[in-house]
Amino acid sequence: MTESTPSLTTAPAGTAAPVVVAIDGPAGSGKSSVSKAAAGRLGYGFLDTGAAYRALAWHALEHGADTSDATAVLEVFGDFDYAISLDPADRWVRVGGVDVTAEIREPRVTDAVSGVARVGAVRHAVNELFRRLVASASLTGVVVEGRDITTVVFPDAPVRILLTAAPEVRAARRSAELTDQDAAKVAAALHKRDAADSTVVDFLTAAEGVEVVDSTHLDFEQTVDAVLSVVDSTMGARDGR
Ligand code: C5P
Repeated sequence: MTESTPSLTTAPAGTAAPVVVAIDGPAGSGKSSVSKAAAGRLGYGFLDTGAAYRALAWHALEHGADTSDATAVLEVFGDFDYAISLDPADRWVRVGGVDVTAEIREPRVTDAVSGVARVGAVRHAVNELFRRLVASASLTGVVVEGRDITTVVFPDAPVRILLTAAPEVRAARRSAELTDQDAAKVAAALHKRDAADSTVVDFLTAAEGVEVVDSTHLDFEQTVDAVLSVVDSTMGARDGR
């Protein structure tokens, strides 16, 4: 893996590292859109770690690799040249200079992504990349969302949140987003992906010290407010407010 042109300005020497707000959760919990909105309201950057795994799945498919074969995934990972924006108002993902922001949301990529994400060496390398991206960003803070951010990538983040919602609510939200696809098929694909992903990392139970925000009965704005209120109370307690 290589990183192409950094998508952010590099922090000058001596600048404090950005505050990390770590948010984990399953598919359809609203994690991505809520994290992006929370980042915008806080004036923080936003790192969608799922986009990295999706970009690698796209890259593997472009090379005709079998994404269920760990050796084949590792082979294409060698020349995976990846860049991502940390700006919540201007999100893009590039692989080898090609903008794949829209392509990585296609069903064929979604179906392949769990295969690449279960390869341990891949996870190790992308986790390092995430830590470097955040550490070198000249930003006050970054909201980082994914599946293992509160537990593996940034276990010492001052704010750690697990965003959940009942399975049927998550399936309904996802099928409302993907109006061109059959609702039952969308729900089945979401549950299948969660089942595959949860064999790799546990994102359904909160680790010690992680705050749960359950969005089952909340609308979008209420969920953003609930996340911001956890950020405020945690940072307030930390700063002695
Ligand atoms: O969040 P999103 O649905 O875009 O994530 C796509 C996939 O990336 C997940 O289904 C999972 O396989 C993988 N992923 C992961 N660890 C993360 C973020 C995403 O394994 N921190």
